[in-house]
Amino acid sequence: MSFSSLGLRAELLQAITEEGYTVPTPVQSQTIPIVLSGKDVMAGAQTGTGKTAAFALPILQILSENRPLGRRPRLRALVLTPTRELAAQVAESFKDYGRHLPLTTGLVFGGVGIGPQIEQLRRGVDVLVATPGRLLDHAGQKTVDLSAVEILVLDEGDRMLDMGFVRDIRRIINLLPKLRRNLLFSATFPDEIRRLAEDMMNSPVRIDIERKTLDADLVNQRVHPVDRDKKRAALSHLIRSEEWSQVLVFARTKHGANRLADQLTRDGLPAAAIHGNKSQGARTMALSDFKTGRARILVATDLASRGLDIEQLPCVVNYELPQVPEDYVHRIGRTGRAGKTGLAVSLVSIEEHGMLLDIEKLLQHDIPQEVIIGFEPAVPFVIRPKNAAAPGRPGRGSGRSTVRSFSPSPRRR
Ligand code: AMP
Repeated sequence: MSFSSLGLRAELLQAITEEGYTVPTPVQSQTIPIVLSGKDVMAGAQTGTGKTAAFALPILQILSENRPLGRRPRLRALVLTPTRELAAQVAESFKDYGRHLPLTTGLVFGGVGIGPQIEQLRRGVDVLVATPGRLLDHAGQKTVDLSAVEILVLDEGDRMLDMGFVRDIRRIINLLPKLRRNLLFSATFPDEIRRLAEDMMNSPVRIDIERKTLDADLVNQRVHPVDRDKKRAALSHLIRSEEWSQVLVFARTKHGANRLADQLTRDGLPAAAIHGNKSQGARTMALSDFKTGRARILVATDLASRGLDIEQLPCVVNYELPQVPEDYVHRIGRTGRAGKTGLAVSLVSIEEHGMLLDIEKLLQHDIPQEVIIGFEPAVPFVIRPKNAAAPGRPGRGSGRSTVRSFSPSPRRR
């Protein structure tokens, strides 16, 4: 399967080549022809699968095919995303893929001045990427005209639900023309998202991208059992001894993320933190420090990490396991993206056992465990299925989990 066989026009193929993509990812090869055929799509696909291009490319194609010439652009494709970071990334993708086409993409989200957004909307855009709250502000002030919207995309539907945006989305849908195409992307389909889909969509084609594409194939995962109060030292040790050049560390709370970033920095490992309490400016700065290498470590909460598009991220660390197993998959999706192998390391204390088991159940496989020499937990733990080897004979008879000693590789020169 190649991009040219998907029926995309030359300007888009050229941009794809310039992006360095050679073959479409599964969600792209399945979604693009269906969107081009005019049908609604409901796709189960997570970040990291290439889903943005799966909707952006056919939308650009459709808009470029029948764009009224010589007029101010009219807003014909609306993309709603849960976070400002994701909105910015998606808008950037539209601009990248559409760089050889005469189409414009606008971006509106909260937390920044509304004036420049009003100006941008006044000049006219073909595509608008927006977070729901700010879009409703614009609609209330009549600074956005939604009457020509032909295509609606809801990106990360389940996240929108988690963040309480479903009512806003319903209000926005009520402002749109009834006759339109709808695309819904969501990692999971809880009942409320299904109901929303039933209400807003017209016999959608359902596409499911296996979680596997994101998990085992591309990401080396390991668990380091370690006591809670040793985690920080263990993390510094790993970063140094394994010479991780760029690492995204997940913490559970905003406060924890800040504290960890401060401690690592004091420890001589410059780290930035990114979470919902930070202003947009501070988030952008933290991200840019990380991307340019000024900060080797970015500590993030789950919510803030959504939609961060950091390419070729070699390593992700779960400093604390997430409460929701699905978030583990989202987190490790930050590494091993689109063909590149990544490493996902979880520091797991005895208190987090239950969460680890839930994650392994979701993944349908174990994550290998390795004790870091010098950071052995006070109470060693081995997870075995029921009926497995007796205590004291770890791992025997089950083959399910292993505990190995792990001493980080010596410095390579
Ligand atoms: P997404 O799931 O949309 O966040 O995309 C994940 C990452 O994969 C982004 O960094 C894209 O630039 C990259 N990507 C998307 N499609 C392809 C492709 N066909 N080949 C290689 N990389 C891709």
